[in-house]
Amino acid sequence: MNPRFNSASLPIPRGDFGRDAARASDWKQREALLLASYAMFGRDSKGRRYAEEPHPYRGPFQRDRDRILHSSAFRRLSGKMQVFTGDMGDYHRTRLTHTQEVATIARTIGRVLRLNEDLIEALALVHDIGHPPYGHSGEDALGECLRDQGGFSHNRFALTLVEELETRYTPYPGLNLSQEVLAGQDFRITHDGAAPLLEVQVVDLADSLAYNAHDVDDALALGLIQFQQLQGLELVQRALEWGQTSLNAPQPAIRQSLVHSLIDVQVADVLERSLEVLQELEGLDSLSVRQLETTLSLSLPLASEREQLAQFLFDNVYRHDKLITVRKMAATRVRRLFERLLANPSMLPPRFVDRAQRVGVPLAVGSYLAGMTDRFCDQQYRQLIELGQPTAVDW
Ligand code: MG
Repeated sequence: MNPRFNSASLPIPRGDFGRDAARASDWKQREALLLASYAMFGRDSKGRRYAEEPHPYRGPFQRDRDRILHSSAFRRLSGKMQVFTGDMGDYHRTRLTHTQEVATIARTIGRVLRLNEDLIEALALVHDIGHPPYGHSGEDALGECLRDQGGFSHNRFALTLVEELETRYTPYPGLNLSQEVLAGQDFRITHDGAAPLLEVQVVDLADSLAYNAHDVDDALALGLIQFQQLQGLELVQRALEWGQTSLNAPQPAIRQSLVHSLIDVQVADVLERSLEVLQELEGLDSLSVRQLETTLSLSLPLASEREQLAQFLFDNVYRHDKLITVRKMAATRVRRLFERLLANPSMLPPRFVDRAQRVGVPLAVGSYLAGMTDRFCDQQYRQLIELGQPTAVDW
């Protein structure tokens, strides 16, 4: 027991809320107590592909979240670059920390809107697990290799991982996630049909909001851009004002204040707009809200300011000389590994040899490469291409 934490000193809940809170140890009661009518309730889930017994104390989306967290694809996010590579320093985001930022921001929004935080977290943790090594450069290179097979999409590959390639103690493949989590990830690919669940929309918003802010932070910290270049951008001005950032402060303090405010000002805007929209929908369930095509978004002025920031990042950061070098290296490694394995499929690890018989050699090689971390891909490149060893190692 922690000697500094004395649970006896905690206030004893009184009144109705106290009684309700005690009852809410059951996840269904808890959801009934905390969620808005238009949230996605676990009790209304369409279930899983392979039927399972309910868990004694975890709801379906909690179980999804936990399965994703314990998957090997999730752990490999720590070895995948977001925008900047591992040899550019230790300050910047990896795909794992980006994912955690998205989950945190999305849960903050979801909690205020009284949406299902477990579903939100599951969706956030899974959203980027399909990224191949070397970020978007790796994705483009793999897309080129698989052009005749319909290209490569990290969003689709996330589904391949959780439905086929991940293995657990169960007799069936994959994580057997709830339909709502799979549909939410699928929406990232198709982007059509009815409006997605509000939880899906919140994660999507949190994703773009997180990466715009942290890419500014990382690019400044790495010296790829200078603060003065940002000052003309409307969203940056708005954030500096919002955070009452002193421009006389040392550069790192300005940077940190700016990034904090960029997130804060956008989250506040999303919340303000969403609460306005959702107020009218009190009493409706998640399905009706979808049928009404309810959309959560930034307000128009902020959406256009964010566009301006995104364009700035595209021109000045994502196309920076340092990243162009990475791009070329990534393209060469992915392409040469792909060609070598395509010509010699028996070099693949056994389960990908099996997979090749089901989906064909190019797609099997593509999924083997796509699951790699950056450093594992570097290693395999050295082994298979530079040293000419005969077998590839499974990840
Ligand atoms: Mg993302």
